[in-house]
Amino acid sequence: MKIIMLGAPGAGKGTQAKKIAEKYGIPHISTGDIFRANIKNGTELGKKAKTYMDQGLLVPDELVVDLVVDRVQQADCEKGYVLDGFPRTIPQAESLDEALAKLGDKVDFAINVEVPDENIINRMGGRRACVGCGATYHVVFNAPKVEDVCDTCGEKLILRDDDKPETVKKRLDVYHEQTQPLIDYYKKAGVLKEVDGTVAMEEVFQAIVQVLGA
Ligand code: AMP
Repeated sequence: MKIIMLGAPGAGKGTQAKKIAEKYGIPHISTGDIFRANIKNGTELGKKAKTYMDQGLLVPDELVVDLVVDRVQQADCEKGYVLDGFPRTIPQAESLDEALAKLGDKVDFAINVEVPDENIINRMGGRRACVGCGATYHVVFNAPKVEDVCDTCGEKLILRDDDKPETVKKRLDVYHEQTQPLIDYYKKAGVLKEVDGTVAMEEVFQAIVQVLGA
């Protein structure tokens, strides 16, 4: 089962992608997490990506496409995977389709988690990320057991630079301009499924499970 998660930044697609990965026993591949891990480890890729991410801009296609195409060919991806944060542009989607076609493969589902911009802006200010393992929380909708402490690894939770209000606005603009056209792209490919992302996290997940038909 090869799944792509679509939706604005903050629509909750990362949270849902993790739940899908867990339920279906497939890897969760988040390009944002890959970049953040590279930033943390001070790699060349991390240094390059950070300059774009901190401004709310997309990292150039050439820094992300090969990375994903390599990743989906690893052994743990044989049964499928859930891609979170990729593709984010039409050229990225085309590159993925080409790479998969060469392997005799294709995307099975593109799940669009729909949330209006107003809700996104309210949500992002409450988002917190763990400096240790990258787990994400929300002060209201998905609070950690102890304030500002990660349930999983005990490290500190912070408001990511790219979740700050001015950057969120920029990320939404970038989303509408560069990523939203993917909804039509996958509709034409006949694999688009839309779910309402404004309801409770567990309800969104149930809607997704229904869509995936398992
Ligand atoms: P995310 O955690 O998915 O919201 O990603 C955080 C940031 O990483 C984005 O705002 C982009 O700067 C960068 N990024 C993640 N995935 C991609 C991608 N597929 N293409 C370009 N930039 C990306």
